[in-house]
Amino acid sequence: MADFPTSARVVIIGGGAVGASSLYHLARAGWTDCVLLEKNELTAGSTWHAAGNVPTFSSSWSIMNMQRYSAQLYRGLGEAVDYPMNYHVTGSVRLGHSKERLQEFKRVVGMGRYQGMDLDILGPDEIRSRYPFVETHDLTGALYDPYDGDIDPAQLTQALAKGARQMGARIERFCPATGVRREGDEWVVETPKGEIRCEIVVNAAGYYAREVAKMFGRDLPMMVMSHQYMLFDTIPELESWSKGVGHKLPLLRDVDSSYYLRQEKYGFNLGPYEGNCRAHWDKADDPMPEDFSFQLFPDDLERLEWHINDAMARVPLLAQANLTKVINGPIPYTPDGNPLIGPMPGVPNAFEACVFTFGICQAGGAGKVLAEWVTEGATEWDMWSCDPRRFTGFEDPDYCVAKGMEVYGHEYAIHFPHHVWPVGRGKKLSAVHETVAAMGAQFGPYNGWERALWYARPGDDTSEAAQRTWEREGPWFGAVREECLAVRDACGILDLPGFSRFRVRGAGTVDWLSAQITGKVPGIGRLGLAYFADEKGRIVTEMSVARIAEEEVLLITAATAQMHDKEWLLSTLPAGLTLVDESAEWSTQILTGPKAREVLAAAGAEADLAKGWLTWQVAQLAGRPIVLMRVSFAGELGWEIHSRVGDTPDVFAAVLAAGRPLGLRPFGMFALNSLRVEKGYRAWKGDLSTDYTVLQGGLERFVDWAKPAFRGKAALEAEKQRGVTKCFVTLTVEAGDCDPPYMSTIWHDGQVVGETTSGYFGHRVGKVVALGMLRAELAVPGTAVEVEIFGERYPAVVCEDAPLWDAKNERIRA
Ligand SMILES: Cc1cc2nc3c(=O)[nH]c(=O)nc-3n(C[C@H](O)[C@H](O)[C@H](O)COP(=O)(O)OP(=O)(O)OC[C@H]3O[C@@H](n4cnc5c(N)ncnc54)[C@H](O)[C@@H]3O)c2cc1C
Repeated sequence: MADFPTSARVVIIGGGAVGASSLYHLARAGWTDCVLLEKNELTAGSTWHAAGNVPTFSSSWSIMNMQRYSAQLYRGLGEAVDYPMNYHVTGSVRLGHSKERLQEFKRVVGMGRYQGMDLDILGPDEIRSRYPFVETHDLTGALYDPYDGDIDPAQLTQALAKGARQMGARIERFCPATGVRREGDEWVVETPKGEIRCEIVVNAAGYYAREVAKMFGRDLPMMVMSHQYMLFDTIPELESWSKGVGHKLPLLRDVDSSYYLRQEKYGFNLGPYEGNCRAHWDKADDPMPEDFSFQLFPDDLERLEWHINDAMARVPLLAQANLTKVINGPIPYTPDGNPLIGPMPGVPNAFEACVFTFGICQAGGAGKVLAEWVTEGATEWDMWSCDPRRFTGFEDPDYCVAKGMEVYGHEYAIHFPHHVWPVGRGKKLSAVHETVAAMGAQFGPYNGWERALWYARPGDDTSEAAQRTWEREGPWFGAVREECLAVRDACGILDLPGFSRFRVRGAGTVDWLSAQITGKVPGIGRLGLAYFADEKGRIVTEMSVARIAEEEVLLITAATAQMHDKEWLLSTLPAGLTLVDESAEWSTQILTGPKAREVLAAAGAEADLAKGWLTWQVAQLAGRPIVLMRVSFAGELGWEIHSRVGDTPDVFAAVLAAGRPLGLRPFGMFALNSLRVEKGYRAWKGDLSTDYTVLQGGLERFVDWAKPAFRGKAALEAEKQRGVTKCFVTLTVEAGDCDPPYMSTIWHDGQVVGETTSGYFGHRVGKVVALGMLRAELAVPGTAVEVEIFGERYPAVVCEDAPLWDAKNERIRA
């Protein structure tokens, strides 16, 4: 015990693949004074029993980045740290049963190419050239991923641990963290072997992450599933084939039947994600055990029966094999199935790298991301998909269990752009939810808030099945068109519960805010859009700023940004200023269209309706106090009507009643998306992310270079001097039946020259509009490019650097 470390820069709690990779990457970044605590032996959690598949495939850009990085790292790791490593790069064949699945594959091929990977589509008659034993009669094709493979998870963990130790990091095994406490600026981590003082703590405790989080006073959004795979013994035919060709079969994923089938020696490993799945440790009579190291759940083959039969029909060879072993282990899930990597919300100097569902294939990339968070406070790639702050605290245990089961049961499902997953709904309802629902609203959740996506007309198909399409013209299309045209010609109203709103006040408020944003703080009575950059000049977030008084501002931001933006603001808020989160107390409607002023007047609004664009005022409507903000994300004359939640029903009813005779129509988020792309208005975490700088984002008009200092100024000045390498552009695209999804590649002269970040049909301009990033030298109005949409390239043109609709903003200023 004499050499037990009593201090360290970082303490990592948990020694699975992810904890070990975090330690390795911290050490590689030069942070060698780090200690990893493992309560048992390394790998004792989920890691030891994992199947070890290492796919690169993902339909999420950031997750693909992470997995691609892992595969690259694993290829050289054994040699780099001199540790034996069973890593078989076998390639994989992912089967498609439908047109939509093939479209998904083609999109991923495009994304992969942009990340430097050569994935390929196989026609139904080509599949057997890669996988001779598969039945293909009912398939539409397949995706071939040459980088896929499998690794021994224990060897991977030990290799990362060895590499970390070689660089000077330490690992304490059989040493649980039993508590933590804050003393001054330090953490003290308690263990039975002694205490360790450190600057930073990382929770990498896998399916025990929730227990560890409790030590920090945090309730982690997660649950635990049981997941099984089955091992089958040698099949002579497979053995002789394998020996003959000198390699293994590629890994087979029948994603539409929800399982993978991998050659294991000369037999198989079959792993289903079954719909009739089972959660664990979620009830009083099934509590989380004190310790589950190196343990498994009892086999439960009954619920896998369908998949076993299906796999035997797909690969009849499997029917010849005997089942030898079943592994049924715990696997943690967040409500959206992505892990938690990043700052621990509400807790200083603490980070999370836990709740991994695919922690073997993601460990490498996750270690890199975690180490960047710790050492630099920011990551190379935008990692919002895994950021712990995407959950905001409404995710109670029942919700976590329900969503975890939904994600698990649809692990391989396609994520269509207009599809809404049905579980865990209705967590937060607008004050006028019933009214909105009665008008035909079809809802989707935003930070738990149910918002209208579109308003179904009599006869419109509102089934979930109808949402499962990549095509633009689903059942919503006609309704959305009518909604957009009502906004263009008369007036529309969008109920928007859940805006995040922070009131900051105190002497020094304006100076503080000015140092945080790139632009000017608006004058009293005025509104402005503010961009927050990081030290590298990258776009962290965007908020509306209303200047309330000399030293008081109201900051309004996206519903989903609530935790993220609050933490960002609090991280620099000086003592003496107060920040109050008023999100729950207010609700908002957007009233917009050329008749918006008439509607407000007819509703009896006691307000100065002549006040110009980008102003706000306190007013009265239906005898209730409201705040009117003269802005419109739809790009027409309009106001945001903010009211206290208790007053919202009266205000909404009055506006509806007065508006109907004037052509007022409710509209939803789909219409808003259509309207805003025509104006070139960016959406957070699509068009606006830390993947781009403020200048690349085309936001220089929001930069006040004359200010003595603001966060990111030096980096942006340097970039301005160098010149940007890529620029934000608006494109019109002669697309086919589908709009360009996020991260569709842009081509020019046979080369990939950029990517789209939004794509939607603009009903006012009658065109498919894409927002995206293009190489600077091509960002010239009129340049012809092509946008790849599900594998096909469609002609597109770079538009003027002005909104496509109402270029001079005359309608908005009317
Ligand atoms: C049957 C099955 C098959 C799977 N197959 C795959 C696959 O093919 N590919 C893939 O990518 N993923 C797979 N997974 C998922 C994968 O196993 C996990 O995502 C991964 O192991 C998570 O690694 P981790 O380091 O985050 O967590 P863990 O491996 O669970 O490690 C957490 C560690 O923290 C330790 N710990 C907990 N509390 C404390 C404490 N208080 N103090 C100190 N230490 C503590 C635990 O002992 C444990 O060792 C599979 C899972 C299952 C169940």
